[in-house]
Amino acid sequence: MGTVYAIANQKGGVGKTTTAVNVGACVAEAGYPTLLVDLDPQCNATVALAADKHSEPNAYDVLSGEVSLADAARPTQVEGLSLVSSSPDMAGASVELPRLAGSETKLARAMEGVRERYLITLLDCPPALGPLTVNALVAADKVIVPVQTEYFALEGLAGLLDTLGLIQREMNPRLQIAGMILTMHDGRTRLAQDVEREVREHFPELVFDTVIPRNVRVSEAPSFGVPVTRHDPHCAGSTAYLKLAKEVAARG
Ligand code: ADP
Ligand code: MG
Repeated sequence: MGTVYAIANQKGGVGKTTTAVNVGACVAEAGYPTLLVDLDPQCNATVALAADKHSEPNAYDVLSGEVSLADAARPTQVEGLSLVSSSPDMAGASVELPRLAGSETKLARAMEGVRERYLITLLDCPPALGPLTVNALVAADKVIVPVQTEYFALEGLAGLLDTLGLIQREMNPRLQIAGMILTMHDGRTRLAQDVEREVREHFPELVFDTVIPRNVRVSEAPSFGVPVTRHDPHCAGSTAYLKLAKEVAARG
């Protein structure tokens, strides 16, 4: 049985999409069928994999109940990695969803066949604790929380953990935290080392050993529509994401 991970943090620009795309690519390249679901109206994961953000069916159609997640999945250029693309219509979904009965379980109800077909499914969430992220957290088995290694790193994490606890109690008792991943770590700065130490002290059990370095190859890759492992297989970013993918898989 496969595992479904939500990649969530209400902060924007912390590395959610980058982590979803690159962990997804590493697992797929290791030979395991993998599904990436873009739930962000900004469509960054869709564009990062050179997919069309106007193609159908997409995540909006899944949330509307028109098609199951498994049936909306399309192959990408990365062998073994399938994608459910987002569309700009997803912005409408965040407004429409709260008005519908059972709106927070729409995605969970569209998951049939997904865990049988894919070893790992990654749900790339938008930067808000709104209806789309709630749908992801209700559908997921585990959450991966990217934390940017900068001064405000801890800010907002307490709120996020409260929300996760609430969803666990009220809607999805299965939900566990897979781990927090420190991203965009600049090893040359004292600040990055201080922030890393502080986050590890606060959440000793939760932080992955792997740290993702700030690496220009990682930020360039989406403009070529490929994961970093394809853009530059030997750069520090590729090595780190490969290590993270192994750590995620090892934690089960
Ligand atoms: P989020 O999905 O949380 O909003 P992104 O994954 O889109 O965050 O990352 C925000 C920006 O930071 C993007 O421009 C991305 O290319 C860049 N970025 C992410 N991780 C790294 C990294 N390890 N090194 C350099 N740039 C990165
Ligand atoms: Mg994103």
